[in-house]
Order: sequence, then C-alpha cells, then structure tokens
Amino acid sequence: MNTAEIQALNDQFIINTYGTRKLALMRGAGATLWDADGREYLDFFAGIAVCNLGHCHPAVTAAIVEQVGKLVHVSNLYYIEPQVLLAQALARHCFAQRWFFCNGGAEANEAAIKLVRRYWTQMGTPKPEIITAEQSFHGRTLTTITATGQSKYQQGFEPLTPGFSYVPFNDLEALAQALTPQTGAIMLEPVQGEGGVRMPSPDYLAGVRQLCNDKNILLIFDEVQTGLGRTGKLFAHDHFGITPDIMTLAKGLANGVPMGALGCTEKVAGGFAPGTHAATFGGNPLSSAAALATLGVITAPGFIENAAQIGDYLHGKLDGLAAKFPCILEVRGLGLMLGVEFNTAVAPLVAQMQDSGVICGPAGPNVLRFLPPLIITKEDVDKVISVLTACLGELGW
Ligand SMILES: *Cc1c(COP(=O)(O)O)cnc(C)c1O
Repeated sequence: MNTAEIQALNDQFIINTYGTRKLALMRGAGATLWDADGREYLDFFAGIAVCNLGHCHPAVTAAIVEQVGKLVHVSNLYYIEPQVLLAQALARHCFAQRWFFCNGGAEANEAAIKLVRRYWTQMGTPKPEIITAEQSFHGRTLTTITATGQSKYQQGFEPLTPGFSYVPFNDLEALAQALTPQTGAIMLEPVQGEGGVRMPSPDYLAGVRQLCNDKNILLIFDEVQTGLGRTGKLFAHDHFGITPDIMTLAKGLANGVPMGALGCTEKVAGGFAPGTHAATFGGNPLSSAAALATLGVITAPGFIENAAQIGDYLHGKLDGLAAKFPCILEVRGLGLMLGVEFNTAVAPLVAQMQDSGVICGPAGPNVLRFLPPLIITKEDVDKVISVLTACLGELGW
C-alpha cells in the first residue's frame, strides 16, 4: 500500500487517539527509515527512544528469529530461561538485584507504585502516598496519569487514584515541605523527558536521596526513557553517584519488542509475595531474548562511550546554532537525549524537518527533541545540523 491508502484505512478503522500524521514507515536499517512511497529518512527519534541500537540490529534480529523458532510464549506458570538470564545480566550492571518483567513503561510504573504500597503495609507502617514532580511523565494508565504531574494528561479521566502529590522539579525545599507521615515514596525521572528534556540541577538527586534516607522513604527512578545508554551511561542515575530503591525500564530495553521491567533491592523486593502481582506476557521468551541480545550490544566495551561522545558532538553543534539563532533559548540534555527550547511552538519545525528527510520530535510545545539511535555517526549529526539550519531559514526563524 502507498501512504494515502494506509492513511485511508487508518482513518476508517483506528480510534483517533494519535491524530493525523503524514508518514507510514515501512522498513528500517540502522538510523535509516523508508516510507511507503519509497522516500528515505534519517531517524533522530528512534521510535521515542526505543530503537537504541538502530532498526533491525543484526544481533537482535538473530536472537528474535532464533527464539521465534524455539518458543514464543508459555506464561509465568513456568520458569523461563531467557528471562532469568536477562535478570542476571541486568543485576550485573546496577544496584537492582531483583526483577519483575512486564510489557511497557506505564505497566512498570504501576508495578513500582503497587510495590511501594505493599512494602510499607508488610512492614506494618502503611504509607500509601507518593510524591512526584511537576512536568513529569510516567505513563497513560489511570494511576500513572495520576503520577504524571501534568494536568493535560488527567483531564476528563477523573476520579484519579488517591495518594499522589506534586512538587516542582529541582526544588528540594518544596519536596521536604511536601513530606507527610503517609509519604511512602518519591518518584522521579532523573532527566525529565516528555516534560521538555529538563535536567536535574547538580545536587538535586543526591539531595533527594539523602532526604529519603533521613525520612525512611523509598526512591523510585523512572528510567523508562533515560535508561539503557540513552544519556551516555547505562542508567541516568549513574551520572549522579546515587542509586534509587526501585528503577523502572521499558522503551530501549528490547530495541522495539514490547518490554518493561522493574528492578529493586533485595529488601524492597520482599514487598511482593507470591500471587500479589503478575503479567501474562511479562518477560516471555521472545521479549526476554530480544532484551538479552540488546543489553549484550549496549554493554559491549566502547558502545556507550561512543554514544556519549557523539552526544557531546551533537550537543556542541546545537550550542553553535543557539549562538546564531535568537529563536533558540536553550540546549539541554545528557548523552543522546537532547532538547532544544525555542521561543515558539516547534510543530512546524518538526514537520519541515520531516519533509527534508530528518525525523525528530517535540517534548512539550516549545522543545525540539532528539533521541537518535545510539549508533549514529558524526556524518549523520552533520547532516541533521545542516537540515535544521536550512529549515530555520525556510521558516524565517
Ligand atoms: C514513555 C514513558 C513512559 C510510558 O511508557 P509506555 O511504554 O508508553 O507505557 C513512562 N515514563 C517515562 C519517563 C516515559 O518516557
């Protein structure tokens, strides 16, 4: 089918939650995508930070193909070899020694919220309330839109889940003020993604960790977007010399096969007993095999370092543009999670870039966001910068 034919069927049969789009992408290799009319694109969005190894990475494709021929799904009524190997591999690389697998970011955050509540109940000191940050994003289930500190995601879905309150990101004083004897956890993205690629100030996360220690509160890091090498380290919290008690992962975990995970300390894991939480598809053989292969590539020597370097290179080039174009207010981010804040809405710029063969996206109304596959080259960056420069000229910005 060509793009027009696909769009016509979409408009007839798909519930309209995503609105009108222009592209139907049919094939990908590395950082290159092709649409249904045969046009080629340079992908600097990676399916929203999902395809961190680029499209159809040979190691992941081989693992998927092998697993599909062996066993796709059995449920967690049985032990699953690729799942336990994945948990072991993840545990080798971070604080979290216990894992629960599910199918995406919202589901991982739901699990984290349930774990916190049950943990404190088990301890004999129920503390059901969770504090999150304004401009955060934690998913689209009823409870995770409640955790999300942006009212635009909540409107019309009330009543929301009780027990959540919000504080401004980077304001340690406000956080300390918001604590109550009922506060069981603080939940944060180490770098806020959907809310506009917002960086934590230098001592903020360490301050939050200290506050949690002092007040006996659990710390949840939502690393759904920042995890798996995206920020130039395996996990964003690795930049800040601290660890949470619970971490959630999803987007980049299996390079495009749906997969979510919750990792936590041995102690906190005790909050879940047999029968208290489950997911039919969670950690099934196929998604676990894809994730295991993905993690193998990401943690291979030099891979993340290269992503960090190319991220610095892109960041530097964007800083250069900011110096030339007054419409650019700020460039921020870590590794290959970068946002460019403009003095106006970026939707026309995203569209113009797409027409010029570069795929990127927004993060809130005024921030242009780059989340390229971590395998991009300097040549790719140079091309995107020249397209961006040309587009700013064409728009008269
Ligand atoms: C995308 C995202 C989610 C939601 O993940 P889904 O897989 O869409 O449910 C949660 N938290 C953060 C930080 C995200 O970026």
